[in-house]
Amino acid sequence: MQPLHKLLFAILAVSFVTFVALFGRLPALRKTPIGWLQRALCLHAPIRLRRIDSKITGGRVTLKSQRLGQYLFYESNPVVVILFLILVTGSAGLFLWNAYALLSTSLLLPLVLLLPAPYIFTYLCVTHTSHFLPLPAYPHQPEHYPYDHILFRPNTTCRTCDILKPARSKHCSLCHRCVDKCDHHCPWVNNCLGRGNYRWFLALLLSLPILEFYGAYLAWTIIRPYISVLPENPFFSWAHFTDLGDAFVRAINVGGLSIAGVGLLAITTAPLPLALLAYHCYLIWAGMTTNESQKWADWRDDMADGLVFVGSKAVLRQHFAKRGGQRELAQMLGLDGETGSIDWPIESDMVCVRTNDGQPPRGQEGMWRRVWRLEEVENLYDLGGWGNLVEVMMGR
Ligand SMILES: [Zn+2]
Ligand SMILES: [Zn+2]
Repeated sequence: MQPLHKLLFAILAVSFVTFVALFGRLPALRKTPIGWLQRALCLHAPIRLRRIDSKITGGRVTLKSQRLGQYLFYESNPVVVILFLILVTGSAGLFLWNAYALLSTSLLLPLVLLLPAPYIFTYLCVTHTSHFLPLPAYPHQPEHYPYDHILFRPNTTCRTCDILKPARSKHCSLCHRCVDKCDHHCPWVNNCLGRGNYRWFLALLLSLPILEFYGAYLAWTIIRPYISVLPENPFFSWAHFTDLGDAFVRAINVGGLSIAGVGLLAITTAPLPLALLAYHCYLIWAGMTTNESQKWADWRDDMADGLVFVGSKAVLRQHFAKRGGQRELAQMLGLDGETGSIDWPIESDMVCVRTNDGQPPRGQEGMWRRVWRLEEVENLYDLGGWGNLVEVMMGR
């Protein structure tokens, strides 16, 4: 088998196993060969291996692999960052080593800017720490956002950090800290993305595919003279695809794995960061973080079940002031006192509550209105698409 065939076979095999492991548990596939393979792979094989291991080594390999799994998936670790840097550096190094002499200076010049960019943005994402909220030893928590009384309410304590959680923050169990404007914990950069470094993550998602497309273009300029597809065959014909395959093999023979292979790797992996970037552009447009989008999804489901009611903060505050007996509910809603004023362009008088029985809070029936759809509720953090983008770009 040629090296390229081996590589393609390995990629196909890994993709197939990943597909089986991920989708074999879906109810629709459970009684199909995919489902049987998934159970054989993820259920029966590990049991057999554990039995063999306990006989041979007394279970030491099982214990070590469990510890490795715990480390890789449930603890903060730099494995993915290191693999990513090795892959980029290895591919770029291999490509430039072989292609340098074949490319003109004008074609190589953009690489002076394009090549360092993903490294710089990875560094900025990885080393950022100012998004971690100060621990109780520090008297003042930074308060950059108002509480919306839907996703975030005042007086919520993080039991791990022992601090009052500011609006838009979230505790990360991998970083063991509360994170300001938390988006998500990203294994790629082994850090939480939040206030300050989210913009560098977006820059990484943009700079990486640009580098990849440019690298693929450079590979193409080298191998293009050797590729010709016969135009007389119709596009959707077996002959046309055979021609393409032949041209592809010729390209590999000409460029080798270091030029054609790296170019192919670049063009096939570029859509992944681009798709992630598109998703984050949607989140910015909608005025929410990844964390908030999950919270909104929960509210949307509860609204569809008729369990969510909205009220007016001003009316409810008046009500609670008159009837002191409902302190618990007032506290739960975050309406038992002022929370300080934050300079924020939008104000909202809305407060949301979800109830278990689908009835408005007892004794306040007239003050709550049932909502069925997310569109009926204000998102205090949505400053409009452009406004949200400016906030993100400014690291806010
Ligand atoms: Zn915390
Ligand atoms: Zn984290």
